[in-house]
Amino acid sequence: MAPAQELRFDGQTVVVTGAGGGLGKAYATFFGSRGANVVVNDLGGSFKGEGQSTKAADVVVNEIKAAGGKAVANYDSVENGERIVETAIKAFGRVDILINNAGILRDVSFKNMKDQDWDLIFAVHVKGSFKTARAAWPHFRKQKYGRVINTSSAAGLFGNFGQCNYSAAKMAMVGFTETLAKEGLKYNILCNTVAPIAASRLTETIMPPEVLQALTPDRIVPLVACLVHPSNTDETGAIFEVGGGHMAKLRWERAKGALLRADESMTAGAIVKKWADVADFSAPDYPTGAANFLELLEDAQKLP
Ligand code: NAD
Repeated sequence: MAPAQELRFDGQTVVVTGAGGGLGKAYATFFGSRGANVVVNDLGGSFKGEGQSTKAADVVVNEIKAAGGKAVANYDSVENGERIVETAIKAFGRVDILINNAGILRDVSFKNMKDQDWDLIFAVHVKGSFKTARAAWPHFRKQKYGRVINTSSAAGLFGNFGQCNYSAAKMAMVGFTETLAKEGLKYNILCNTVAPIAASRLTETIMPPEVLQALTPDRIVPLVACLVHPSNTDETGAIFEVGGGHMAKLRWERAKGALLRADESMTAGAIVKKWADVADFSAPDYPTGAANFLELLEDAQKLP
């Protein structure tokens, strides 16, 4: 990552989904102030995904324009992501950066979760990110440039009470991003995941006001700006926790593990005997693909 004082995005087009409030608004106004053409997408519904309105996106577009920036509104649901990208192409003739940010919550205990709570969360977070990214992808490939941010959550990475639908969808963003990163690399399309924590209508009822004060959405923006800027030429497929001024990369860790001969001696009892090794994280490695696991199996040839 090259050092840079003020990151500019002149001439680039940024699509920010769910940009009518919260984090999305912070991203959109930032990019608008740094020379980018901004597509401000927002369905304008409730945090549970009910209703719709053009107001949320319009307010942000007007704010960007009033400050001298360039922005256009789009009111489609991310489930129709191709229309959002169409808006970018029609208004600005290109798309360079996609921030998949739109989101809703349908929190309820696992025992009481209805099909609709599950399906709506997957429709917005997972299908919405897929549809929007798929529409932008051919443009990225053709111009050999693209930057994608997908939005995960601590609830996805670690689980959280009352959020099994949201957790599953947010973990899906990690796998989605890791594959896009692998497929996009040779076209200079870099894709990363952020797991933010910030004050917004999604968090205002679950955290005390003094904590929320330190967690403003604009604290998420600089890391995202670094990741989607042309000066980032190699950071891709990564997960970042970010909030309140702290940011850190996360990765997979594999324990030492046990290698047993793959014959009739490989019983449940034999595994129990080796359990300390299966769960031994004292000298971990950090896998990045299935090939890493297959290398471990090569050692099986050397077993006595
Ligand atoms: P927010 O409710 O303030 O913003 C989300 C925006 O997405 C809203 O303006 C909403 O109208 C829009 N939206 C919802 N469904 C849409 C759809 N189908 N199509 C288009 N727009 C739609 O919430 P936020 O906290 O700013 O959340 C932004 C993202 O960050 C979400 O993906 C959320 O899950 C994620 N996130 C937030 C936090 C946090 O601490 N705030 C933590 C983890 C993850």
